[in-house]
Amino acid sequence: MREKVLITPKSFKNYKNKTYKMLQDKGYEIIENDLGRTMTEEEIVGLAQKDVVGIIIGVDPLPANVLEQCKSLRAISKYGVGMDNIDLNRARELGILVKNAVGTNSISVAELAIGLMFASARHIPSATAGVKAYGWERSIGFELMNKNLGIIGGGQIGKEVAKRGVGLGMKVTIYDPYFTDFKFLEKYNIQLEEELSEVLKSSDVISLHLPATEQTKGLINAETLKLMKRTAILINTSRGTLVDEAALYDALVNQKIAAAAQDVYSVEPPEQGDQLVALPNFILTPHIGAYTYEAVERMAMISTENLLNMLAQKEMAK
Ligand code: NAD
Repeated sequence: MREKVLITPKSFKNYKNKTYKMLQDKGYEIIENDLGRTMTEEEIVGLAQKDVVGIIIGVDPLPANVLEQCKSLRAISKYGVGMDNIDLNRARELGILVKNAVGTNSISVAELAIGLMFASARHIPSATAGVKAYGWERSIGFELMNKNLGIIGGGQIGKEVAKRGVGLGMKVTIYDPYFTDFKFLEKYNIQLEEELSEVLKSSDVISLHLPATEQTKGLINAETLKLMKRTAILINTSRGTLVDEAALYDALVNQKIAAAAQDVYSVEPPEQGDQLVALPNFILTPHIGAYTYEAVERMAMISTENLLNMLAQKEMAK
C-alpha cells in the first residue's frame, strides 16, 4: 500500500504542477479535498483515517479527536501561518510533527491591512457602493499621515505593517510582550509600549497581528473598546476570535469607535442576517489576506518542502 498525503487548501491546486511532482517523486499518493470548501472534521477523518502519513492543511479543523483517528499520521504542514485550527499539544503527544509556512504571506497580509486602513479612513467601500447605485453622497474622511498607528503583535506581519505605516508618515507603536528585535525599532523609529491599554488609548488606528490562542481570545472586548478613541479605527486581519463581536457591534452603533475593518470573522462566512456585517462602518473581506499569486505560490512550495522534510525526519528516526 502506497503512503498517502492529504491536501486540503483549494488554492494549493494552482501550483500542483510543481508540488504534486515533488510529493510523487518521493513515492506519495495524493488525496485532494475536492469539495471546493473547508472540510469538516468528519470529512477529514473519512479521507485520512488510513494510510495518510502527511496532511497539508489550510484552515480545516484538526482537533484532538481527528488527530487520534488518523492512525498513520506523522506530519502536518500548515499552508499558511496561523495554527489555531490544529491541536498542537495533542499532536505533540501523538508524536505528529507540525510546521507552518513562516513568513510566506506576511507582505500580502500587511498590504491588505494597509488597504483596509485607507478603505475605512476614506469610506471607500460605501462610497463606491453609493456611486454604483447612481448616488453621489460624500462622507468626510481623514488622512493617515501623522496619525498614531498601534500594532498589537510585532511578528512577521506586524513588522511589515509597521514599516509601511512609517512609510506613510504615521507614528508607529508596537505592543508585543515577547518582542526582542530592538534593532528594528531603532532602524524605523518605532516605539515599543509595555502596556496594551496605553496603545489602545493613544492610537488612531489599531491593527491586530497576534495569534488566536486561549489567552488572546476576546482581547478586543467591551472593556478594551472603551479605552479607544471615539475616532479610532480597528483593523483585524488575524483571526475572528480576537474580537468580541457583540461588543464591537455595540461600539460601532454607539460611536464608541469610528469604524472597524476585518478580513476574518468568528464564523466564515458569517451567517445570514448578521447585524455586525450589515453596519455601514464595518468592512469585512472574505479572508483574502494571503490570497495573492505571490503568497499562494510561496505557501504551496514551502508547505510541500516542510512536509517532505518532516516525513524524512520521521523516517530517519524509525
Ligand atoms: P508571527 O508568529 O510572526 O507573529 C505573531 C506575534 O504576536 C509574535 O511576535 C508574538 O510575540 C505576538 N504575540 C503573541 N501573543 C501576544 C499578545 N498576547 N499580545 C501581543 N502580541 C502577542 O505571526 P504572523 O506571521 O505575524 O501572523 C500573525 C497572525 O496573522 C497569525 O497568527 C494568523 O492568525 C494571522 N494571519 C492571517 C492571514 C489572513 O489571511 N488574514 C494570513 C496569515 C496570518
